Amino acid sequence: MSKWVDAVLRGDHSAAKDIANQMSSPPVLSGDISTVSRWLREKRRGLTRAGLVASSGAAMLRPDGLETSFDFHQRFEWERWFLDRDSCEEADCEHKYCNDVRASSKLEVAATQFEIQGLELDWIGIC
Ligand SMILES: [Zn+2]
Repeated sequence: MSKWVDAVLRGDHSAAKDIANQMSSPPVLSGDISTVSRWLREKRRGLTRAGLVASSGAAMLRPDGLETSFDFHQRFEWERWFLDRDSCEEADCEHKYCNDVRASSKLEVAATQFEIQGLELDWIGIC
């Protein structure tokens, strides 16, 4: 993965494509958040989780509806973002973000590098 990232950051698209083609789960690169979200939804199966992750310093995501400001992130319940389901059918579910746009797999709220520590997503869209 690090070689692919290095090729992408160098702007060597040909090398990045060659490296990606050799990977068992090749990364996909897009400048369109709706394309990324559609790809993530297509990849998810069963109870696997997807989520968007962005740099805390990202300043160009507001037009795409993603907020990375500290004021927003400090009040958000990130454990609920990770653990609650986008489509929960439990009758007595007490999960605060189940069936809610705040669950990670709904792809409406992006976590930053500070919130993703220690928990896992199966499919990640890096913004
Ligand atoms: Zn639930």
